[in-house]
Amino acid sequence: MRGINLKKKIIYVDNAATTKISDSCFNAMLPYLKTEYGNPSSIYSIAHTAKFAVENAREEIADALNANPEEIYFTSCATESNNWAIKCAANLLKKEGKTHIITSNFEHPSVLNCCKSLEKEGFKVSYVPVNEEGLINPKDVEKEIKKETALVSIMWVNNEIGTIQPIKKIAEICNEKGVLFHTDAVQAVGHVNISLKNEKINMLSISGHKINAPKGVGILYIKKGTKIKSFLNGGSQEKNLRAGTENVAFIVGLSKALTEKTQNITQKENKIKVLRDFLLNELEKNIEKIRVNGSLEKRVASNLNVSFEGIEGESLLLLLDSCGICASSGSACTSNSLNPSHVLLAIGLPAEIAHGSLRISLNENNTMEEIKEIVNATINSVNKLRKMSPIWN
Ligand SMILES: *Cc1c(COP(=O)(O)O)cnc(C)c1O
Repeated sequence: MRGINLKKKIIYVDNAATTKISDSCFNAMLPYLKTEYGNPSSIYSIAHTAKFAVENAREEIADALNANPEEIYFTSCATESNNWAIKCAANLLKKEGKTHIITSNFEHPSVLNCCKSLEKEGFKVSYVPVNEEGLINPKDVEKEIKKETALVSIMWVNNEIGTIQPIKKIAEICNEKGVLFHTDAVQAVGHVNISLKNEKINMLSISGHKINAPKGVGILYIKKGTKIKSFLNGGSQEKNLRAGTENVAFIVGLSKALTEKTQNITQKENKIKVLRDFLLNELEKNIEKIRVNGSLEKRVASNLNVSFEGIEGESLLLLLDSCGICASSGSACTSNSLNPSHVLLAIGLPAEIAHGSLRISLNENNTMEEIKEIVNATINSVNKLRKMSPIWN
C-alpha cells in the first residue's frame, strides 16, 4: 500500500469512479451529524427536525428530477438500488409466469451480476449487444421482448466510455409492450437532463458519490403504479419498502448535491467539452496509434476513453500517478482480475488493445492548466512505455 500524500498537488480526473464532496453538500450535512441526530421515527423534537430534513430532501430531489416525492426512495448506494429494482421486480413477476429479463452486455457489474444470480434461480436473460460505437439499438431490445419478459434494464450512460443510450425510446417500447423498464442512471445525473414525468421509466437508480455527495447513499426512483416489494426485512421506513434507519445527514447532502448537479447542465457540459476536445486533439496530434473508444457525439462531455497500441493501461496509470494525475484504465485489472474491460470487449476491441486504455472523467472544476499537464504527462508516459514495450515495433 502506498501512503497518503497530503502535500502533493493532485489532478483529479476520475470523476466516474467517485467525486469530491462539494462544500455546500458538506456544510448542509454537518448539523445532522452533530446536533440534529434524532431518529426520524422517534417522537421528540430533534427527531421531528430529522424527519423534516429527510422529507424536505425528498421533495427537493423530486423537483430536480421532475418526479413526485412519493416516487423517491433512499437506499445505501446504487448497487443496492439496482439489486432492489431487478431482483424484486423479477421475483414478483415470476408468479405471473414471467421469467425472462433483458439487459445489455456492457452494464455495470451491479446489474450484470444481479442478472447472473437470477439465471441461477432459473430466469432466462437476454444480453442485447452494443455496436462498435458503444450504442444500443432500441430495435434490438424490442426483438428480444416476448410474453415471458418481466423486465428490461439498460443503463442510461455507460460508466467506462460515457456513451448515452436512447433511453426514452427503449422505455416507450417497453411501456407499449407492458414490460417494466429500469435504468441505471448513475452516470447520467448531472450530464443529461432528466425529467421523469415525461418518461416511461418505471425505476431508476442514482448514486450519491458520483455527484459530489458522500459514498454510501443512493436513490431508487419508483414510478407511481409500479409493482414492487421490499428488499430488506425490518422496520417500516420508506413506506414499508426500505427498512433501516434513514441516513439523515447523507440524504440531506445528497439533495443539496443533486440539486446543484442538475442545474445549468447544458452550460456545464459545454464548458467541459472544450477541455475534453482540447485534450483529445492534443493526444491525437502527438501520439500515433491512438483510438477513441465509443461514439464521441453521443457521449457525455466529461468522458474520454482512448486506447494506445503497444502499452499496458496499468503501467500508464502508475506513471500518471507519479505526476499527481488520478485517472483510470478501461480495464478491470485494478481489482483482482486481469481480464480486459467487458465494456471494451463488448464494443469489439481486441483484448490487447483493450488492455492499453485510459479513461479520463472530468468535472466542471477541472481547468485548462490541468488538461495541459495531463497532455504532457500522457505523451511522455506513452513514449516511455512504448520504448520499453516488447510488443511495440
Ligand atoms: C458507480 C456505479 C454504480 C454503483 O454505485 P454505488 O453507489 O457505488 O453502489 C452503479 N452503476 C454505475 C453505472 C456506476 O458508475
